[in-house]
Amino acid sequence: MTRITLATVALLTLAGCRADSNAAPTPSANAETTKTAAQEIDRASMDTSVSPGDDFYHYANGTWLKNTEIPADLASYGVFDILGEQSQQRTRALVEAAASGRETAGPDERKVGDYYASYLDEATIDRRGLAPLEPVLKEINAIADRKSLSRWIGQSLRADVDPLNATNFYTDRVFGFWFAQDLNDPSRQIPYLLQGGLGLPDRDYYIEGGKEMERVRAAYRTHLVNVLTLAKILDPSATATRIYDFEHKIAAVQWTRTQSADVAKANNHWMRADFDKKAPGIDWSALLEGAGLSSAQTFIVWQPDAIAGIAKLVASQPLPVWREYLAYHAVDHNLSVLPKPFRDEGFAFYGKALTGTEKQRDRWKRAVDATNGALGPAVGKMYVAKHFPAESKAQLKAIVANISAAFGRRIDALTWMSPKTKESAKAKVASLVVGIGYPDTWRDYSTLQVVRGEAFENAQRASLADFEFQRSKIGKPPDRGEWWMDPQTVNAVNLPVQNALNFPAAILVPPYFDPAAPPASNYGAIGAIIGHEVSHSFDDTGSQFDATGRFVNWWTPEDLKHFKAAADKLVAQYDAYMPFPDLHVSGKLTLGENIADIAGLSAAYDAYRAQGNATAESDRLFFISYAQAWKAKRREALARQLVVIDGHAPDEYRADTVRNLDAWYPAFDVKKGQRLYLEPADRVRVW
Ligand SMILES: [Zn+2]
Repeated sequence: MTRITLATVALLTLAGCRADSNAAPTPSANAETTKTAAQEIDRASMDTSVSPGDDFYHYANGTWLKNTEIPADLASYGVFDILGEQSQQRTRALVEAAASGRETAGPDERKVGDYYASYLDEATIDRRGLAPLEPVLKEINAIADRKSLSRWIGQSLRADVDPLNATNFYTDRVFGFWFAQDLNDPSRQIPYLLQGGLGLPDRDYYIEGGKEMERVRAAYRTHLVNVLTLAKILDPSATATRIYDFEHKIAAVQWTRTQSADVAKANNHWMRADFDKKAPGIDWSALLEGAGLSSAQTFIVWQPDAIAGIAKLVASQPLPVWREYLAYHAVDHNLSVLPKPFRDEGFAFYGKALTGTEKQRDRWKRAVDATNGALGPAVGKMYVAKHFPAESKAQLKAIVANISAAFGRRIDALTWMSPKTKESAKAKVASLVVGIGYPDTWRDYSTLQVVRGEAFENAQRASLADFEFQRSKIGKPPDRGEWWMDPQTVNAVNLPVQNALNFPAAILVPPYFDPAAPPASNYGAIGAIIGHEVSHSFDDTGSQFDATGRFVNWWTPEDLKHFKAAADKLVAQYDAYMPFPDLHVSGKLTLGENIADIAGLSAAYDAYRAQGNATAESDRLFFISYAQAWKAKRREALARQLVVIDGHAPDEYRADTVRNLDAWYPAFDVKKGQRLYLEPADRVRVW
């Protein structure tokens, strides 16, 4: 599902174990520890004065929504955030133990502890002032021509975007790299090059009109001035204007978020020689040498005309403006590991202005996040050893197998799909690699140097080590068991080119999963999430990848026509949702997630019914557990930001997915004329 939780985009990555179809059957529920459906419903959160047929989200969550305040240091608060806090507390205990017991810790634990302790040590960060930044600013100042500019850009690039697994298209570096299996050739891994270079979260923030966008733009201009002033850059006000205008030029050539999500448009293979022809302006030899990619021959260039447009700016824009722009970003990218005035400015803009958060989160929380960002898998290894029981893994493997089987039966039952397309679809379900909890193998951190007291340098070295790790995949065969989320992350992810799923340990806990809960509750909550991830293999994007992860059309034209007609109906259903009077959900932007929500909920429902002993009461528990999994509140600035950039619909409408399932109607006696009622013909069934 991959939820974006604000300027720091929280995504997922976890390890892979093979979900074979002969997985053990679901352990039978223990009658003494398992609660009944009636006992399991979380009634305290509900508002039964609301009619479920009019507003299911508030029926299931109304009292909780009324009585819950978003903590001052958060931009949103819901199940995800509550579990996120739990994972954070657990991680804190682990990394603090590693920091204080460094003498006896293993090499990875020692790095984890040192990274955390250095980030936490604000006194040392303050005392060192701008000194750690000076070598970088000196390098930027020494940029004397297009060649050295190109080389510097190249060496500053990182593997910081991910267009398919995390659907993260944003980097403030001039470009972003991703290293993964070739879309056209499952036998090899190649670099993907994406557009980048903006300080604001998306090109829309520079281009689109409206009061809210103007407010953010004004705040950003102030932020530019403030950062430049703190960094002692001369004439901050005029410099800020030049940098803003420069970024506006980048925004003008960038693809929109919706364009970037179109894999067919993005699947452009460029040979090394194509760069000079198709994107003149940059000295590509110098750039690729700077990035350590001189020997790479084939690339996927995700947004070709945007890449060409940015390359043109290397030739057309004055070098002094480039130097100012790069210097600003070198500072701005590192605000969290610079002295207090920088950190405060970072929060004033990225926290307050951009997401509406009132209070900066405690330093230890940011230190945990930073440590996860730098050494996530090493932290995850410590996390699962302590917090992920083997019994959970066994039960969840069975739930995954049952949902995959239900999905297979749904494919069989489709009346409109040709036998040939069905065969390909079922092959895809059968070969899915499902990771539960954590990866089978862990990343090697032996070359990463972490030094106590060097928060700034540690961050630089960690991002470079990650880049080198990602880059080293070139020439190696793809690993379908590779994880893209950390075990301590509360999320889950579908990996299209690996035809694989990751379910991190930190999401496999109540209220999503409770080994003692009745099937209706587990299948309604974690089951729908598992079904959602399985279904991503068959959403508007996933259905374009075959069982080997090759980007290829395995559909007959008639089948594709039916699929697209159902998708169009869904676009219209979500376009009609208005979270704010002046802003509607984009049915197109959220299509893939909405297909996954409906198909996932449907498969989870089938799998739960297949466990037997279903009653009217347990059906209600199933649907309420589902809607309660989406309870959340968001600050308006963040909520608006997400409607623009997030591929997911707002939580309320995700909960309303239920209106597309026939079984929901009798369970809550929903009648024609009620707000969520859909005529049977209007209920969307994609899978
Ligand atoms: Zn999703």
